[in-house]
Amino acid sequence: MDIPTQAEDPAGFVHDEEIWFADGNVVLEAKGHVFRIYQGLLAHNSEIFRDLFTVPQPTSVETYEGCPIVHLVDRPEDLRHLLRVIYHGNRYYRPDEQLEFAAVAALVRLAHKYQIDHVRDAYLWRMKSCFCTELATWETVTEGPGYGSPIMKFRLADAIAAVNIARLTGTESMLPKGVKRDEEFWFDDGNVVLQAGGIVFRVYRGVLTLNSDVFAGLFSVPQPELTDTLDDCPVVKLDDHPVDVRHLLRALFAGRSWFPFSVVASVARLAHKYDMECLRDDAVKRIQSCFSHDFDVWAKAAAARGSNLVSYRDTDAIAAVNIARLTDTYNILPSALYTCCQLKSKDLLNGVPQANGTIERLTQADLLRCLKARKKFVHDRVVSTYRLCQFTPGTLHKCTTQPICPSLLKMLVNLEVTFGTEDYACLTDLIAWLEINSEDQYGNLCRGCQAHVQERALGLRAKMWSDLPMTLELRNVEVRGPYYPEYIYE
Ligand SMILES: [Zn+2]
Repeated sequence: MDIPTQAEDPAGFVHDEEIWFADGNVVLEAKGHVFRIYQGLLAHNSEIFRDLFTVPQPTSVETYEGCPIVHLVDRPEDLRHLLRVIYHGNRYYRPDEQLEFAAVAALVRLAHKYQIDHVRDAYLWRMKSCFCTELATWETVTEGPGYGSPIMKFRLADAIAAVNIARLTGTESMLPKGVKRDEEFWFDDGNVVLQAGGIVFRVYRGVLTLNSDVFAGLFSVPQPELTDTLDDCPVVKLDDHPVDVRHLLRALFAGRSWFPFSVVASVARLAHKYDMECLRDDAVKRIQSCFSHDFDVWAKAAAARGSNLVSYRDTDAIAAVNIARLTDTYNILPSALYTCCQLKSKDLLNGVPQANGTIERLTQADLLRCLKARKKFVHDRVVSTYRLCQFTPGTLHKCTTQPICPSLLKMLVNLEVTFGTEDYACLTDLIAWLEINSEDQYGNLCRGCQAHVQERALGLRAKMWSDLPMTLELRNVEVRGPYYPEYIYE
């Protein structure tokens, strides 16, 4: 019985040094590596093995060193992990011991395959201590220097295997957040991976180096942060939100056409942080194309809620103010703060939730600035409405219907004051408003008086615009506006 029955076997097979019990009664062969263990123990743990041993084999049973031999397709090192657990139970890998990811992964895979549920569940649980849907857990286990929980250590590249195991075992709910590839920025020939929160981006080192002094510095010296690899690329961990990183990469790789404000805001912030001068300047210019210190540029963008470079919502003005402060671009402030003053008090006080999960809010100082300015804006709006029509039609205005015009002007004042005292929009285009009402009151004004009302409307608006820096208590900030005749205020 001690003599091998198959002539070619003795030379080819390698006895496992650890799992080779002389009194074992079955031999498992995996890629030329043989383990000798007990049928009963395997059958007790696994239905798959039980079936294998109980169903009579159609052909004569192949044996090796006197034992039936079972050929398996598993890797011997993986099988050894499983046999250790089957033979020793919890004594080999203690429940509180920190295991390598490779051992845990092998155990889950093989236990799943051989339907050894208690082993599969125990090691899945161990895997979940690192890979789970809780971002807080993920942040804890990736704090470094080495990644891992007290019971399992891993490398970032292992997360791909973890995803496959989650799929294999049907535990999609524990799919790791750590390594979801970004759908937009994963270039197959990329040579560096940026990891932000739960997302990895594969891009080009050369492009980052060319555009960012910070990245250039990071790549020029070997950094401990670059020791992790994913798909053979070094992994750079960023502490930014993936949404912001995606926006930055969009500006970097997707050409420079039109963007929504949220993209531009991310780019301005990250380009500032990573010293990407060109991108930062480009983002600031886009913001200035809407929140301009030039009246004409601002008025056009405000009417359209955007320019040819960027579109925005009024709530974006809060981010515009904060970016102006961050990048020392103070000429953004007058129009951006004015727009903040027009927001609902709720949004102004509580801030506005952003796509990256943060709340964009003004600093206390800027908030106070807005609250004070609002009073002045209400005052200005009422006063300018009175002044709009506060003239006695005469030859100076080339008035042709002197009996009617004064009463029409008085009606207009009342209408506008009732209509407009509750908001802070003192810079509203009054000419546009008057034109809406042209069919009734305004339309009956003579041409001369109409022209004069329009001139006054433009002048009043220009005056309030030029007062903006003062109203908002902004020092050393100037605005550019159209000429306004002084007589309006006399
Ligand atoms: Zn008239």
